Amino acid sequence: MSVARPLTRAILALGSNLGEREGTLQSAVAELVDCPEVRLLNVSPVITTKPVGGPVGQPDFLNMVIAVDTTLSAMELLVHCQSVEQAHHRTRAVRWGARTLDVDIIVYGSVVSADPVLTLPHPRAAERAFVLYPWSLMDPHAMLAGKPVSELAAAAADMAGISHVQDVPLPQAP
Ligand code: AMP
Repeated sequence: MSVARPLTRAILALGSNLGEREGTLQSAVAELVDCPEVRLLNVSPVITTKPVGGPVGQPDFLNMVIAVDTTLSAMELLVHCQSVEQAHHRTRAVRWGARTLDVDIIVYGSVVSADPVLTLPHPRAAERAFVLYPWSLMDPHAMLAGKPVSELAAAAADMAGISHVQDVPLPQAP
């Protein structure tokens, strides 16, 4: 007898600053939700951001977030996100360097974890405008660690590096 697994809401952040960035994000979203265990709920606009940290002179990022409902465990979701990254031939020679695709789990339900393999909420999300700002556009009432995501975004040091907000054709949330 199989036991129904609980449905958990998660926020995933996607970024790309190499290659055909917009197409990469479009197909990554489609791949992330192309399994019966992951259902797309909402999609943020795509923003253009200056790289934070890492080598100087690397290209701008396109960043976005999505909301999903999933029956995957947090660790299974991480493995799923990493397989989508790998499918895009992620190259990452340098920490915080250029990458074809980066997918992070920002929150997984209300789970709090200090495990370095999967830290929840994502340890740097609360200070990253490139996560917080598109999240606040997607869900103006979103909260992170008890604070409004829109307020955290406004206070984030990299907010000034956001130069462009665009809606791109992505799989429509139902
Ligand atoms: P990054 O290069 O920033 O994508 O970091 C990838 C590494 O961070 C992997 O080894 C993951 O196991 C680890 N990690 C820890 N917490 C998270 C999280 N919330 N989302 C994605 N990766 C995470």
